[in-house]
Amino acid sequence: MGKRMAEETAVIGGGMAGICSAILLAEAGIKVKLFERQDRIGKKLLLTGNGRCNLSNLSPGAEHYLTDDKERLERILNTLTPKRRELFFDALGLKLCEIRGGLYPVTRQASSVLDAFRFRLRELGVAILTDSFVSGIDGDLRITLSDGRCFGPFKKILLAAGGRAGVYAEEKDNALALAKEMAGSLVKTYPSLCAIRVKEELKAAAGVRCDARITLQTPQGSYSEQGELQITKGALSGIPVFQLSRYLEDTMNSRIHVDFLPFLEEGDAYLSARAECFSQRSLEEFFAGILNKKLAVELLHRAGLAPSRPVSELPEEELIKLFRLCRSAEYTPAGYGSYKDAQLMCGGVPLSALSDDLECRQHPGVHILGELLNVNGECGGYNLHFALASAMHVCDRLLSTEN
Ligand SMILES: Cc1cc2nc3c(=O)[nH]c(=O)nc-3n(C[C@H](O)[C@H](O)[C@H](O)COP(=O)(O)OP(=O)(O)OC[C@H]3O[C@@H](n4cnc5c(N)ncnc54)[C@H](O)[C@@H]3O)c2cc1C
Repeated sequence: MGKRMAEETAVIGGGMAGICSAILLAEAGIKVKLFERQDRIGKKLLLTGNGRCNLSNLSPGAEHYLTDDKERLERILNTLTPKRRELFFDALGLKLCEIRGGLYPVTRQASSVLDAFRFRLRELGVAILTDSFVSGIDGDLRITLSDGRCFGPFKKILLAAGGRAGVYAEEKDNALALAKEMAGSLVKTYPSLCAIRVKEELKAAAGVRCDARITLQTPQGSYSEQGELQITKGALSGIPVFQLSRYLEDTMNSRIHVDFLPFLEEGDAYLSARAECFSQRSLEEFFAGILNKKLAVELLHRAGLAPSRPVSELPEEELIKLFRLCRSAEYTPAGYGSYKDAQLMCGGVPLSALSDDLECRQHPGVHILGELLNVNGECGGYNLHFALASAMHVCDRLLSTEN
């Protein structure tokens, strides 16, 4: 073994990005030490895709992500071509299948992905140090753990300590402060791919699932998604809300509008004709067949109208107001939900603060990857895909300078 092979690289974080980079480096003959703060690696992986692990997507383009540097993101994503993805997972003995564009292990078990990773790390001789919380990195690339142990110096350090979503209540439990110290800046972080709490109580409609078009208006712009809305007491949830939550940077100055009748192409004209046709019905009965019953009661309550009131008694202006409410009910975000219920931490280290190979400019030798970066993907396998793409991108660059 030559001198170069004896030099160790440290990987901080045993999640998707850390594990994949450890594998890629070790496969190229680099000695790797992997530090993980928990008692075992890959705990978050087990939670992904409802335990099925949506590993990637058939169309993982940059348009599915929010970031501060789209061109840089495209370069990183281009590293992980479909062929390289196939070869990478094939080498792990992991077969993937497609479900509605998302790529999952054929076993549909996140645990089989983690097993494939663990077995490969063992075969490659990667040293894994669990219960090892990295709290400091010095200028000579030495690592200090929160229990006082020191390691290094290392040739390179890959900081892949992830985000807070799903696991950490406290910022101090993560490596955000360390990442900020290394990179010199951090974009505001907040929980996303999660339900949005709203000020309205939504008591009567709790438990309702319905097709809806949801529009989020923020100071930055207006964003819409259509799909199955889930209403819980005091919160809007479901995939379309998850997707929109990535834009909810400023909860104070944002508003949500819900069209509960997105399938009505003719809009108000249909509702007016329906009101004429069913003028003898009560307001609650009027909505039967187009709105969930609990939802109709909720909306009537919000409009201050008794469900038993006959349609014929309602003055036209009030009827129009009620239609408006059904087509564009306004909700006010009530702050952020908890990281524990979120799938993603939005924000993080801006790509623009790093060099092209994701190296910290003020701390040469330290590279940042995965969810710690300000790259926020949609639901659908995009975030695990990015974790792998960023690992592959950094490892390619490190290995090309090695040779
Ligand atoms: C419930 C849930 C479901 C999800 N489902 C999907 C899905 O199906 N598809 C998808 O693409 N994405 C999904 N995601 C998002 C995806 O899991 C993450 O974006 C991805 O795992 C990020 O990988 P990472 O390696 O960057 O970070 P992480 O997975 O967060 O890993 C970071 C690791 O670093 C460790 N660590 C943190 N700080 C330190 C420290 N100071 N010292 C040492 N170790 C440290 C952590 O314990 C952790 O093991 C889901 C997330 C959640 C929470």
